[in-house]
Amino acid sequence: MKKLLHDWAFRNLTIFGKITVVKTLALPILVQCLSVLPDPKSKQFEEIQKIIFNFIWDGKIDKIRRNIMISDKHKGGLKVPHILSFAKSLKLTWVKKCLDPQCKSSWKILIADKLEKWGYSNIWQLRREGLSTAMQVFNNFWQSVMQAWSEIMQHPTTAPSEILRQPLWHNNEILINKQRVCKSHWIKKGIFFINDLINDNGSFLSLENFQDKFNVHTNFLTYNGLISAIPKHWKELIKNVPREEISDCNIEKLRKAQKVSKLFYPIFLSSVAETPVNVKHKWEERMSIDIVENEWEQYFMIPHNVTMNTKLISFQFQILHRILCTNSRLFIFKILDTEMCSFCHETKESISHLFYGCLHARNIWITIQEKLKNLCNIDVCFN
Ligand SMILES: [Zn+2]
Repeated sequence: MKKLLHDWAFRNLTIFGKITVVKTLALPILVQCLSVLPDPKSKQFEEIQKIIFNFIWDGKIDKIRRNIMISDKHKGGLKVPHILSFAKSLKLTWVKKCLDPQCKSSWKILIADKLEKWGYSNIWQLRREGLSTAMQVFNNFWQSVMQAWSEIMQHPTTAPSEILRQPLWHNNEILINKQRVCKSHWIKKGIFFINDLINDNGSFLSLENFQDKFNVHTNFLTYNGLISAIPKHWKELIKNVPREEISDCNIEKLRKAQKVSKLFYPIFLSSVAETPVNVKHKWEERMSIDIVENEWEQYFMIPHNVTMNTKLISFQFQILHRILCTNSRLFIFKILDTEMCSFCHETKESISHLFYGCLHARNIWITIQEKLKNLCNIDVCFN
């Protein structure tokens, strides 16, 4: 990657061109490694990310924070690939393969006995804490897969169906003597979710019905002990709710997804991506106006929507992020010995002076205003 990007570094590309090079040429180098190997250490991820940003900023200090650059365009970023999120989303392809009965690859045999202990596909429905217990018997590669999967899990809200699909096992909310519960021989009989203990009328199965249904031998104390361990407020929420087909929204999404990594990348990204709060505040302060969030989204998108010219987009991007080098900036960096405007020499050359306040800029705006009025009959007042 370093060599490839080094070769491209001399082509005087815009920031967009560089990001395109990263996405289309550099990233594919990593895809295979990140798909089939355990995740590298976080330090190595940082190293890869650094190579990318070094290329984007020509080996100089970053002008915009990395967590902003990885964001979506409407959030003020440029969608620079975030390698850690990328690696995690690639790993989830394996969960899809695990869940897909059509996939009969021979690697499945290698993990079959480990999965059996957790009811095969049910392992993907364990909660975060359960999964981190389960993953201990798997190798580093599968641990990376499970780690990624556990990070996108959502813990239940108040929807009854979400309570019903709570796993009984290794669940921090279902404790007996302050310990999480796990009964391997019950799992083998297909008992895994709260849903499995519910009958069609929405109440818990009686001991007899439970034993008949699953063909397990247990006693009143064990069975009722488990039911009493289920939190009271959950029981209230599922009162009279009949058993249903278990469906986990992430698993459903995964099954339907054409491209798993594309689907989950934004979810991983959302925990790290940021919007440029400081710059927004600065604009609002300088212009003495309040700008609401969705207005900002519009402003960030305007350059992308109105032109295909990457130089222009790039220019406007620099203005929006206030990284355009005006004289007042160059003066602060001691590159120039004056901070005054290059055109009128009278006022400090800030972005708003240079492009709006300066007499020379005003004349351009007035001319445009007149032309629009006279030639197109459009009345605009630039402000
Ligand atoms: Zn001026």
